[in-house]
Amino acid sequence: MPQNLTALIEQCVREIPDYPKPGVMFKDITPLLADPKAFAAVVEAVAGAYEPSAVDYVIGLEARGFILAAPVALELAAGFVPIRKAGKLPARTFRESYDLEYGTATIEMHTDAIAPGSRVLIVDDVLATGGTGRAAVELVRRAGGTVVGFSVLMELAFLKGREKLSDVELRTLTTV
Ligand code: AMP
Repeated sequence: MPQNLTALIEQCVREIPDYPKPGVMFKDITPLLADPKAFAAVVEAVAGAYEPSAVDYVIGLEARGFILAAPVALELAAGFVPIRKAGKLPARTFRESYDLEYGTATIEMHTDAIAPGSRVLIVDDVLATGGTGRAAVELVRRAGGTVVGFSVLMELAFLKGREKLSDVELRTLTTV
C-alpha cells in the first residue's frame, strides 16, 4: 500500500471514543468521504486491485460499506449488491446470524441478487471481530457465488477478525 494513502486514511478517519457504547473507539469515515481526493484515492485503491473482467458484483455491507462499494462497482463495471440488516430488504432473502458480545445479529441478501457462479468482491469500511464479514461470505456462497476478494478500508488487528476470513483473499488499506 502506498505510504501516502495510508497517511491520508489515518489523517481523514477520525476516532470517536466510547461510541456507540463505552469502551469502543469508533472509526468515523465521514471526514474521508467529505474529502473528494481522499474518497477517490480509496475507491481507486480498492478497485485497482482487481481486473474489471474478474468481478461480476461488488457487495456493500450496510451501512458504510454501501458508500464505498457503489463507486468501486462502477469503477469495475460490475453490479452493486447490498447486504442489509434483517428486515430491510423487500424481496425473498437468505439470512445469516452471528454472535455479538451480547446477543446475535442477522444480515440478509436477496436470493436472486447474484446469479450462481458469479464472482463477488465484498467491501466494508472497518473489519473488527469479523462476524459480519464471515456471515456475508456465507450469504454469497449460499447464493452460489464465489468470493474473489474482501476489501476493507481499515482492519482493527487486535480484534483478530482476519482469522474468521482465512478462506478469502482479504485486502486492507490500513491496519491499526
Ligand atoms: P465486525 O462484525 O465485528 O467485524 O464489525 C464490522 C462492522 O461493524 C462493520 O460494518 C463496521 O462498519 C462496524 N464496526 C465495528 N467496529 C467498528 C469501529 N470500531 N468503528 C467503526 N465501525 C465499526
